[in-house]
Amino acid sequence: RLIRLRQRLAGSGALGKGLLGLLSRDHLDEDTWEAIEDLLLGADIGVAPTQELVEQLRTRLRVEGSADARTVLREELVNLIDPTMDRALHVSGADGQPGIVLVVGVNGTGKTTTVGKLARILVAEDRSVVLAAADTFRAAAADQLGTWGERVGVEVIRGPEGGDPASVAFDAVKEGVDRGVDTVVVDTAGRLQNKAGLMDELGKVKRVIEKLAPVTEVLLVLDATTGQNGLIQAKVFSEVVDVTGIALTKLDGSAKGGIVVAVQRQLGVPVKLVGLGEGPDDLAPFDAGAFVDALLS
Ligand code: GDP
Repeated sequence: RLIRLRQRLAGSGALGKGLLGLLSRDHLDEDTWEAIEDLLLGADIGVAPTQELVEQLRTRLRVEGSADARTVLREELVNLIDPTMDRALHVSGADGQPGIVLVVGVNGTGKTTTVGKLARILVAEDRSVVLAAADTFRAAAADQLGTWGERVGVEVIRGPEGGDPASVAFDAVKEGVDRGVDTVVVDTAGRLQNKAGLMDELGKVKRVIEKLAPVTEVLLVLDATTGQNGLIQAKVFSEVVDVTGIALTKLDGSAKGGIVVAVQRQLGVPVKLVGLGEGPDDLAPFDAGAFVDALLS
């Protein structure tokens, strides 16, 4: 898996190479530290974490003079990503109820694709799954999820185009409860209308679902290539629903791997999944150590 991660993070790998190159200079002068800062900012780590990291690196390399820069860099990057965060996906319900995963985020970030790939992971773990196409605003979204359902071999509940998303979510969860499935994954609409509209819509979806079973995971999908701007949009969702985990998509080919740090800092929620391509197997659980190793390899 590490090798695959490494290949897929080719863009972000430039960050690791750049940092290691600069840190291995004989003399770490101010220009070098500035270049290190620029690299980190360019990778979307964010201003405060960049300053913290540089401060830590400067102190440690001074104190531990002979220390191997690579080891120090690895440790500090892993710390920055916070290896203590609980990254388990809550896909199981209590008392024989299905786990309910609500997937939210701006359109185009990779929501539907992530739902499809997640279903595949769950099925591979021998779980029974029902998908809800609660993005009723785009006919293509339901069709796209339908295709994923066929590919992965799971049922997709959909409603009429332009219908009520909450009613589709309700039907899907009802089906899941009646059939006693393990997990229901709900794809939602990601229109960025005003905050009140979004709150009404997602709030209603969640309320209606919870008449039947508690939502166990609210997964926010965020496109790594949209950087700080995408983060501002994502923040609106976290203000509207209690997000419990982040799926960071399109990390393949992005030179913005630092967004992992920024997103966790600003939303206070762990990255749990990363999207590494468009194919059915291109979704992986996030692991801080493996991620940093891939960056530095
Ligand atoms: P939605 O509007 O949020 O449901 O987004 P979609 O699931 O339709 O995805 C939008 C586009 O992003 C599609 O072309 C997907 O194939 C692509 N996509 C989704 N996830 C990834 C990923 O991890 N890597 C890459 N390279 N493309 C992705």
